[in-house]
Amino acid sequence: YLKQQEMRESNARSYPRRIPIAIEEAEGIYVKDADGKRYIDCLAGAGTLALGHNHPVVTEAIEKVLHDKRPLHTLDLTTPVKEEFVSEVFNSLPEKLAERAKIQFCGPTGGDAIEAAIKLVKTATGRRSILSFHGGYHGATHGTMALSGNLSPKEKVQGLMPDVHFMPYPYEYRCPFGVGGEETHKLSSRYIENLLDDPESGILPPAAIILEVVQGEGGSIPAPVEWLKEIRRITNERDIPLIIDEVQTGIGRTGKLFAFEHAGIVPDVVVLSKAIGGSLPLSVVIYDQALDQWAPGAHIGTFRGNQMAMAAGTATLRYIKENKLAEKAGVLGEKLIASLKELQEEYPEIGDVRGRGLMVGAEIVDPSEPFSRKGACKADPGLASRIQRECFIRGLILEVGGRHGSVVRFLPPLIITEAQLDEVINIFTEAVKEAVK
Ligand code: PMP
Repeated sequence: YLKQQEMRESNARSYPRRIPIAIEEAEGIYVKDADGKRYIDCLAGAGTLALGHNHPVVTEAIEKVLHDKRPLHTLDLTTPVKEEFVSEVFNSLPEKLAERAKIQFCGPTGGDAIEAAIKLVKTATGRRSILSFHGGYHGATHGTMALSGNLSPKEKVQGLMPDVHFMPYPYEYRCPFGVGGEETHKLSSRYIENLLDDPESGILPPAAIILEVVQGEGGSIPAPVEWLKEIRRITNERDIPLIIDEVQTGIGRTGKLFAFEHAGIVPDVVVLSKAIGGSLPLSVVIYDQALDQWAPGAHIGTFRGNQMAMAAGTATLRYIKENKLAEKAGVLGEKLIASLKELQEEYPEIGDVRGRGLMVGAEIVDPSEPFSRKGACKADPGLASRIQRECFIRGLILEVGGRHGSVVRFLPPLIITEAQLDEVINIFTEAVKEAVK
């Protein structure tokens, strides 16, 4: 039936093109196809499946909603399931944020919550422009696409949200200033500060700066802690709300419950989706109460706060905290990065290895084509695809992303064990050997 799907489904479908598989069963880190072949799922719903597939605490929480005859749909009315979810989320936030926080339930996608966050800050500040970053990804609606730094999906769609200005992200390997290393983030923050203070820069005081602490779709690029602190200082000093998009990084993936905690900063707005719904669709915006200046009904939508997703999300958050999965993600992530760096010594086709926690990327390059910038070589999306294919043949599902489509991305469920991670590394090593031949 894969063929039938190909014929009937839209030309815009994406994942099935690279991962030609019909998944019939799934458990933990594994999925099984129609022929009974087992794959390790290191895509995990693009980072959604923190506890893997069908984790017992998640399925039990969903069954309990049904068993207790809880309402399945209530728009945004209050229910015990919702009350429990909100308490769990507030108990998970750093104290400084929790004591001033408000929560807004949004449509079921991350993109809708980003839209809400933008409306929130525009209303509160009365300003119109937003500063975003090259390589950032925030969704596929007109507004969120406008905020995303990836050009190709935008080329064919005219009339996106105006007044978005793109700033250089501290991407050390392909340093936007041509220097690399520590200087990258220093120059980035200095550039932004100068631009904001220069009345001739054409940048009006923005309604917000929006960023990912680790760019996900942009190629698993972590922002240095010092840079994040600088951006927080710059925005604080100028009264500019800072929106942190934690759609992919949130709920333990990077080694902390929230990625901004690595820098010890407190954002004004945090956007959560993916893992927060425990594998079901859910998204929320959490923000400083000072920004709560929008009118009742300012962000509406029929499906806001699906009850089963909230129950699954509460169970997921609890399990992650009780089992210290964030800390474990940090330790396993370091191991994965170290193993990939070892492999890089043997294979110069692996141009860069980076990440934070279990959000890791290996940038695939053509080593015979040095790029003008320090040490970096030309991106090789073809080889990245071949590696992805060789992994797939060997029973490992990985995604390829990044600005040039040349970053192999590791996003396993946080429940992955060390032995399972070794298996991932072994398969990847074999795949690289075969693909570079
Ligand atoms: N922000 C980030 C950081 C994301 O990774 C994504 C999804 N990959 C989104 C926003 C958009 O979420 P959704 O696809 O649910 O709209």
